[in-house]
Amino acid sequence: MKLSAIKADITTLRVDAIVNAANGSLLGGGGVDGAIHRVAGPELLAECRRLHGCETGDAKITKGYRLPARHVIHTVGPVWRDGRHNEAGLLASCYRRSLEVAADNAIASIAFPSISTGVYHFPATAAARIAVRTVIEALPMHPDVGEVVFCCFSDKDLELYQSLLDASAI
Ligand code: ADP
Repeated sequence: MKLSAIKADITTLRVDAIVNAANGSLLGGGGVDGAIHRVAGPELLAECRRLHGCETGDAKITKGYRLPARHVIHTVGPVWRDGRHNEAGLLASCYRRSLEVAADNAIASIAFPSISTGVYHFPATAAARIAVRTVIEALPMHPDVGEVVFCCFSDKDLELYQSLLDASAI
């Protein structure tokens, strides 16, 4: 099992699947979602339309179309309210369900953005802790998912993930 953090635009990564921090409609949005749809092209939106949305904490897979990644796993993170609306549980569920969907589709390498930490305002440090812990806990159940990349969009996020991975001795 290989776990790493890098700073990159997730739309450039040549992995079996990139994860999209989507909204419940799966019909596109801003942030990483907008970037993924722009690069993948209109066929991605057409396939997403046929999925009829996604619940918060769940994940659904499509092809990657014009992306270098073969697939996109769309997951819907929680909107941060005050921390008392199961935001942490729902965020953990995004990582768990994305890995389950990956394993069901023979995906060996997967890259995650920092789900919910953009316009959904989940505090970055808490979100990164949940991301790293949930992936480390779930990966032994999915031995064929050999490589997980935490794709950070800022130096600050990269530092955060790197220190968490170092502390976990992965
Ligand atoms: P959410 O609605 O789940 O908060 P956002 O897309 O607003 O989703 O933000 C999620 C994270 O993705 C943020 O940390 C943001 O900086 C990051 N991000 C935005 N664009 C990209 C990209 N092209 N590649 C990787 N990460 C990105």
